[in-house]
Amino acid sequence: MRQRIIFATGNQHKMAEIRQILGDLPVEILSMKEAGISVDIVEDGTTFEENAWIKAQAVAACCDDIVLADDSGLEIDYLNKEPGIYSARYAGEDTSYEIKNQMLLDRLQGVPREKRTARFVCAIAAAVPGREPIVVRGTIEGYIGDRPAGENGFGYDPIFYVPDLDCSTAELSPEEKNARSHRGNALRMMRERLADVLRQG
Ligand code: IMP
Repeated sequence: MRQRIIFATGNQHKMAEIRQILGDLPVEILSMKEAGISVDIVEDGTTFEENAWIKAQAVAACCDDIVLADDSGLEIDYLNKEPGIYSARYAGEDTSYEIKNQMLLDRLQGVPREKRTARFVCAIAAAVPGREPIVVRGTIEGYIGDRPAGENGFGYDPIFYVPDLDCSTAELSPEEKNARSHRGNALRMMRERLADVLRQG
């Protein structure tokens, strides 16, 4: 039977990106829902890596397949790396990103460009039956602009600017963003690690 990889997410955008980047591995890639797994997970880790591993382990307890999980967020250096692992919950889970982004812009009011450095971080953990955990981290470096720009992407994309392009990640096409994004970079690293594991059998 073809080996299966289950990705611990319900997010269809993430699944599309995962299928695109891991698509050439000799495995079947399923979301949790497609695998019929539903589990409540408390993300109480203190780092992106811990949270990704907590999610992977929780789902791995429900099946015999390889399980991948990710955790991501935005680190702003001037704000001591806030919102960090609390990115989704910043200013309350139900607060819109229009408001979250404006609150961050307000906190950076008057701060010069060279001190507005930031990065998106994505940790991906793999629970492979009978093996040590595999955990990788991908990042994309940038800065927080003066105002939101762009309609693509989601979350903090409108305020996160890429230095060599001087535009926000919300102004990039999905292909342009995936080619350089934290999640794209982490997935490409994970693909190499999984390819080794699958070769070893
Ligand atoms: P999670 O990893 O799905 O829990 O996402 C964490 C949060 O980080 C998201 O809800 C967004 O607020 C933020 N985030 C992660 N990746 C991105 C991105 O590529 N663009 C914009 N925001 C992001």
